[in-house]
Amino acid sequence: MTVPPKKRQEFHDLLRVRYSKCLEPNECCNEEAIRSHSIQNATSQQILAKNGHVIAPRPLLGGGRAPEIEFKRIGRNQASTFEGLCARHDNDIFEPIEAAPLDVQDPQHLFLLAYRSVLKEVHAAWSSAMMLQGVFQNLAESDPSLRERPNDAGMHAVSQIINAYKCYLYKRKVDQAFLEQQHDRISHASFAYGDVGPSVAVSSLSSLDEYDLPDDVPRVALNVFPLSGQTHAIFSYLKEEESCAMKFLKPIIDAKPFDQRVLISRFILERTGNFVMSPDYFDAMSNEKKRAIKSFFVRTIFSNAPDLTSPHLYLF
Ligand SMILES: [Zn+2]
Repeated sequence: MTVPPKKRQEFHDLLRVRYSKCLEPNECCNEEAIRSHSIQNATSQQILAKNGHVIAPRPLLGGGRAPEIEFKRIGRNQASTFEGLCARHDNDIFEPIEAAPLDVQDPQHLFLLAYRSVLKEVHAAWSSAMMLQGVFQNLAESDPSLRERPNDAGMHAVSQIINAYKCYLYKRKVDQAFLEQQHDRISHASFAYGDVGPSVAVSSLSSLDEYDLPDDVPRVALNVFPLSGQTHAIFSYLKEEESCAMKFLKPIIDAKPFDQRVLISRFILERTGNFVMSPDYFDAMSNEKKRAIKSFFVRTIFSNAPDLTSPHLYLF
């Protein structure tokens, strides 16, 4: 899909104006965004944390070398945060799942878990678009001819702006469902495992690039968290994207419990960056398992690797 020039300009303006502002569903709030938790801090992260810390993947940045990550111990108050909502909207929107225990049978609670994953991803897509656009503008200031001919920096920026625009359109659908309290516009596939200790928590929205929709790709949110002695994994998708989502989810639904956990773990490592692990679980992993997980995570940063197998690729 290409974004028509006028729309692109409008979206550009919106992106510039609303970046760092609150992404509440009516798009009227002018309060600055605060650091919100995408993974529940009060319950999930508290269960996982040790001495107030969790383990999260962090990129190792270095001039021009191949991408690398490390699993780093970070304070749970800093883990998996995003600046997408002001304090008032963060509280108003998510109060039902922050002020009371999470109920995985409650459609509103499940909707809000998915909604938070969507807001986090939209914010991440907007941040990338702004950053790449900034890089392009800096380059074009010293070489104005870049504005006249195709070039890598310009193409990267345009492609990220298109991605941010698509994410934004997706968010608008979920915003609408939120405003109309139509929680059943998002469907869920839930899995729960009682025989594993607390190990990992995830909040993500991922595109299923292997399937096509007119002008877009389908998306699924994934939330994984420990609760009441079980590890829950909940995939959420727009009802209108159900046929694609179910094609993707069927192998997981049909698998035996251990294989389900492996498939969901691969999904986490392959398609999400926003997860945290329990330090106790991480420290108990063999070095071989740590190496396998890290190497799979890095190997799949730019493309999925369905043929890459290892007995170590499970996180819970
Ligand atoms: Zn607000």
